[in-house]
Amino acid sequence: MNILVLNCGSSSVKLQLIETKTGSAQGPERVLARGSVERVGSAEATLWFELAGKPAHRSQQEIPDHKEAISRLTSFLEGAPGEADGTSRIDGVGHRMVHGGQFTHSVRITDEVEREIEKARDLAPLHIPHNLKGYHAARALFPGIPQAAVFDTAFHHSLPRRARFYALPYEWHDRYQLRRVGYHGISHRYLALRYAELHGARPEDFKLITVHLGSGCSMCAVNRGTSVDTSLGFSPVEGLVMGTRPGDVDTAALLHIMQWEDMSAEQMLDTLHRRSGLLGLSGASNDMRDLEERMRRGDPRAQLAVEVFCYRVKKYLGAYFGVLNGADAVIFSGGIGENSPAVRALACEALDSLGIRLDAEKNHAAVGAEADISAEGASTRVWVIPTREELLIARETAEVIMGDAD
Ligand code: ADP
Repeated sequence: MNILVLNCGSSSVKLQLIETKTGSAQGPERVLARGSVERVGSAEATLWFELAGKPAHRSQQEIPDHKEAISRLTSFLEGAPGEADGTSRIDGVGHRMVHGGQFTHSVRITDEVEREIEKARDLAPLHIPHNLKGYHAARALFPGIPQAAVFDTAFHHSLPRRARFYALPYEWHDRYQLRRVGYHGISHRYLALRYAELHGARPEDFKLITVHLGSGCSMCAVNRGTSVDTSLGFSPVEGLVMGTRPGDVDTAALLHIMQWEDMSAEQMLDTLHRRSGLLGLSGASNDMRDLEERMRRGDPRAQLAVEVFCYRVKKYLGAYFGVLNGADAVIFSGGIGENSPAVRALACEALDSLGIRLDAEKNHAAVGAEADISAEGASTRVWVIPTREELLIARETAEVIMGDAD
C-alpha cells in the first residue's frame, strides 16, 4: 500500500511517499519519494523533491499556500516513470497531528474527528492550524482517498495519574481537561521500537530514556514499551529548553512580569511560544548550528543558552533514572540530538554515577547515523538513532485503512 505522509508546519510542508507492507506481507517500508517546500506563502519558496534513486529537483518559486505546495510536490509523482513500481499511486494519506485531544490511537479523519482536533487549536497554536491546513488541502486534491490522523499525544495516554496531574485545584482538571498530555509521541515511540529492533528484541525487554532534541524538545521515560513520563505537558512549553520555548519556569515569575510589563495573557503566550528558549536567552538565534558557531567566536550569550539547554537535559536524565528505577539506554534523536556531539557530550557530562560514559571518538563520529556512542563497559548504553516519524505514520495509516476495510 502506498501512503503519502504529510507533515505541515506554519511555513513548511514535508512529504514522503512510503510503500508499506501490512498483514502477512509485513516488512520494511520503502521510501518511494520525498520532498519539501520551505517558506510556503512567499514569492521565493524553495521546493525540493526526490524520487528514490533519481537526481533531486530543487527550485525557487512562488507558492502561495499549503494546497499549492502539496499539489506541486505530488505533480512530480505523476510525471515519474513510476507505474511499474507504483510511485504514482496513492492509497491513503497520513497526517502528523501534534495534538489529538482524547484520541488514544490513530484514526481515519471524519468531520467528527476534525471537530475534536479543532478543540486543541489553542493548545498547540504553532502546529494544529497548519496540520489541519494540510488535511484540507489533501482532501481537496485527493477526493475519496482515505486520510488518517496520527497523533503525537497518543503514545502518552499511558502516563500514570501521578505523572499526568498538576498540583493545582482539582476542579480545573475536569473543567479544562487540564492534564499533561505530552507531545513528540510518534518520535519517542519510533525510537523505542527501533532500539528493540536493532537488538533483535521486543520493546518490552527495555527501560529507555528517549531524548528528542529538534526545534521542539522533549524526553520520555519508556518503561517496557510504554510511556510513563514525558517532559512536555498540557501545552508544548513545559520541560526542556527549546528553540523558542523556555521549558520549565517559575510560573509565579511570569505573573509578576505580566504585571510589571502590563502584558496580556496573549502577549505572554506569544513570548512563551515564539520569543523564549535558545532564541530568548541568546538574543541571536533559535538554531543550534548558529549558536555553536557563535560559541566558537566567543559569544557569551550563545554559550549561556547552550549551557542552560544541556543542563536541563542532564537534569531530566537524572529524574527519569529515578522514574524508571534505572535505564538500559539513553537515545538521542531530532536535528540536534542526531547531529550535535557537543550537546550530547555536555548533557551526559559527569553522569558516571548513572552508568553513563560516552566514548568521545564514537560520539564525535556519530552525525546523522545510528550508533552506540557509549564507552566500553558503561552499564547504561547511549545511542544516537535518527528519528523516522514518517515510517511510523505510514505504518499506522495503512493499519487504519486496513482496519476500516475489514
Ligand atoms: P524540527 O523540529 O523543526 O523538525 P529538527 O529536528 O530538524 O527540527 O531540528 C532542528 C534543530 O537541529 C535546529 O536547532 C538545528 O540547528 C539543529 N541542527 C541540525 N543540524 C545540526 C548540526 N549539524 N549541529 C547542531 N545542530 C544541528
